[in-house]
Amino acid sequence: MADMKVPVLIVGAGPAGLAASNLLSRYGVRHLLVEKHPGTAHTPRAHIVNQRTVEIFRHMGLEDRLRAVATPNELMANNVWLTSLAGLEVARLHAWGSSPERAADYRKASPSPMVNCPQTVLEPVLLEAARERSEADIRFGHEFLSFVQDADGVTATMRERTSGVTYEVRSDYLIAADGGRSRVVEQAGLPIEGESGLATAVNVWFEADLTRYLAHRPGVLYWHAAPGTPFLTGAGTLICHQPWDQFVMVCSYDPATETIPHTDEFAVERIRQIVGDPTITPLIKGFSTWTINHQVAARYREGRVLAMGDAVHRHPPTNGLGLNTSIADAFNLAWKLAMVLRGQAGQALLDSYSSERQPVGRQVVDRAMQSAGEMAAVKEALGFFPDQSEADGWAALEGLYQPGPAGDRRRAALREALALMNYQFNAHGVELGYRYRAGAVVPDGTPEPVPVRDPQLYYQPTTWPGAHLPHAWLDGRGRRISTLDLVTGTHFSLITGIGGEDWTAAAQRATEVTGVPIDVHHIGTQDGLWDSYGDWAELREVESTGAVLVRPDRHVAWRAAQFTSDAAANLCDVLQQLLMNIGKTEELSVQ
Ligand SMILES: Cc1cc2nc3c(=O)[nH]c(=O)nc-3n(C[C@H](O)[C@H](O)[C@H](O)COP(=O)(O)OP(=O)(O)OC[C@H]3O[C@@H](n4cnc5c(N)ncnc54)[C@H](O)[C@@H]3O)c2cc1C
Repeated sequence: MADMKVPVLIVGAGPAGLAASNLLSRYGVRHLLVEKHPGTAHTPRAHIVNQRTVEIFRHMGLEDRLRAVATPNELMANNVWLTSLAGLEVARLHAWGSSPERAADYRKASPSPMVNCPQTVLEPVLLEAARERSEADIRFGHEFLSFVQDADGVTATMRERTSGVTYEVRSDYLIAADGGRSRVVEQAGLPIEGESGLATAVNVWFEADLTRYLAHRPGVLYWHAAPGTPFLTGAGTLICHQPWDQFVMVCSYDPATETIPHTDEFAVERIRQIVGDPTITPLIKGFSTWTINHQVAARYREGRVLAMGDAVHRHPPTNGLGLNTSIADAFNLAWKLAMVLRGQAGQALLDSYSSERQPVGRQVVDRAMQSAGEMAAVKEALGFFPDQSEADGWAALEGLYQPGPAGDRRRAALREALALMNYQFNAHGVELGYRYRAGAVVPDGTPEPVPVRDPQLYYQPTTWPGAHLPHAWLDGRGRRISTLDLVTGTHFSLITGIGGEDWTAAAQRATEVTGVPIDVHHIGTQDGLWDSYGDWAELREVESTGAVLVRPDRHVAWRAAQFTSDAAANLCDVLQQLLMNIGKTEELSVQ
């Protein structure tokens, strides 16, 4: 007999587990969240919070709370390479959609500008909200030890760390959100592909007022590019976590030949070197060591175990995708679990979690790894090479400032290298553009839209089934709302326009047959929502009488080009395919 029973057990209160808790609570699913540490992240790691993640906070009703503690997009604008903060600035790039050209792309794509918010600040926002809900039982200092599963559920063994007391929890499903060394994933036997331990770095968290070096060129990343320091990383990279006094210095090193002492003396000396100011007295707040991995799980599900976040995708911090992908995993899974637990959907809907999210994880892991390799391009364009002497480095840098064709060529090469950096710092297509090509989506027979621009750099909105619902501002009678705001809870949303009035009856009929709630929204009609700028008409890719069916995670499930007399039957059929039949045809297999 288990000591307690709960529908869902979540292991790990990092960004993935905390997001899953908030979402499950919103969907009315009781759950236990266990975290082995006594509190949330005690050192800042992730900090770039992209638009999709802020949109998920918006969905959870937490966007304002996040913005209240985060650094706004305007202060993330620059990526700077310099010999020291006080020394020569050698290169600069507009980052995170801040250039005049890219700002329009980013603004058009989302109601929610991205922010910079260290994990130490973001996690408490999620935790505070999670604790407000009665559906959540949240226990810190409780460690997951092991589990067994059978056809009806999972029995997991926990240990309360202070007392050493162990207890058993019986749940319908187990979410593995226990990070890069996931014990759950290992015990579940989910195959992890790729390599680990490819490089090592130490994060030094410190406080120092660097306003006079940074306020005129606000940004997040300041790359040390000084002759005579390690080729790729200099003495270290500065990450600004809160302007202009909270930082992390990242020092990469080769553990086979070097050690990085976790001492204030070492850290202060390095920080002074990067800042170029021997008088500053930074307050050292913590050290943490991390390694670069290039790994993704081949699948994210094993029976009743569903894995998310770093537990299934592990990669360098380049592109800032780890936390973002982890929270997006939770958004994809939570509504599916809620519907399955309510008996509204079958097991195959849970399979779609893996078939939809694993390819995204694979893309993210590969992109981040490629970006890490491409960082060398800027250093090479500056004239730096591995094992170069300091004097040779300065001489090479000098060439960048020479008049004449040779200098022109060097400057052009640097601009080219910086353009490559857009694949890391302005990769809007990677951040927002993922589409689910196999999963809980019913194709409408149209081919996937061909990218008009580079699909990694540019997000191309579309209502093609599997894509994310495009954002457009609408007038909701006295308040401005986004199309994304039309999707709430675990309801499906059906968006139609002038002449599409009969979709309301069709949706009602489909709900009667399937039990799945559908909210119908009429955009552009006099008594509906106003398409104030005509943006939705441009984006919807169906006729005004047509409809776009949107899932609770804002991905398009299906669309109809126009209203037809068999709309109700079609809609029923689509929902059956999405949620019902797929469950009936497959049994849950547990080894
Ligand atoms: C230097 C650095 C910079 C980064 N920058 C960014 C960035 O800018 N943007 C971005 O998106 N990502 C970034 N990342 C990546 C990001 O930190 C991770 O992807 C993210 O934390 C993953 O979240 P998670 O919830 O999956 O795992 P984690 O944050 O690792 O959380 C897992 C939790 O599970 C707990 N746990 C583990 N085992 C057990 C157990 N047996 N029982 C109970 N609890 C357990 C752990 O204590 C931990 O709290 C960065 C990473 C590093 C190292």
